[in-house]
Amino acid sequence: MLITPFDPWKGKLCTCPKKYSFSPYTGCSHACIYCYITSYIPNAFKARVKKDLFKRLRKEIHKVDTFISMANSSDAYTPEEKNLKITRKCLQFFKEKGIPILIITKSDLVARDADILKEMKASVSITITTLEAKKAKLIEPNAPPPEKRIKALEILHEENIPCSIRLDPIIPGINDEELEEIIDTVAPYVKHVVTSTIKPRNDSMKRLRKVMDIDSFKWERKGNSFYLPREQRFNYLRRVEKACNKYGISFAACREGYKFKAESCDGSHLIFHSS
Ligand code: SF4
Repeated sequence: MLITPFDPWKGKLCTCPKKYSFSPYTGCSHACIYCYITSYIPNAFKARVKKDLFKRLRKEIHKVDTFISMANSSDAYTPEEKNLKITRKCLQFFKEKGIPILIITKSDLVARDADILKEMKASVSITITTLEAKKAKLIEPNAPPPEKRIKALEILHEENIPCSIRLDPIIPGINDEELEEIIDTVAPYVKHVVTSTIKPRNDSMKRLRKVMDIDSFKWERKGNSFYLPREQRFNYLRRVEKACNKYGISFAACREGYKFKAESCDGSHLIFHSS
């Protein structure tokens, strides 16, 4: 199936509202070292367009009774999208069908499609993990640098498309010292922030080991993921929450068991604040 109910491994800690997952691509060429899609997608870091995409979309679209989140695995703005424009065509299709869309991406390419997004019920969430290009290159090798992602937020904001960021994942020793600075930087453009600490699975653990001393942490196993100690996680989350409060930005945490007041964790409530 192409459009599926979102259900992240039936995780008890997930607070997401009812939504559907859709990705035009299988795999994602951003190749983030902490990515978990390698645990279930073969050749995961080489994006390819899904077979018979539009034929299947037309067949399955009737089932969507809330909104589509695009995409929960495999970034819809993987580098291949620049030339292929498949995601753009999908957006055009969703616009015609009146389907609300939440876009989650690490690419500034999303700003290219502002002309379509501003004419539909849509919200964009851009992942910002660091403000430093060098660090971003280390953890998200093929994704656009932070500066470009922030510029995209600015463009989308100017077009009145409601935006949020995912400050996700927080990785000790990589980006934990710049949490407040990240919020200060994006504050003019976003209405919501969702954050999350690193939760590696076995395969991403191996990649992370190359850039950080992961074995020095006391990991706690929850299902197939490893979590940092609760006190350490909550300390990071409290800092992000406080930074958001300073600007009146709504705050949420993803799969942390940390209470928050925002209308939704994923920022999807912003969809219905759009035109
Ligand atoms: S952008 Fe998302 S799906 Fe793509 S490699 Fe990075 S974490 Fe994985």
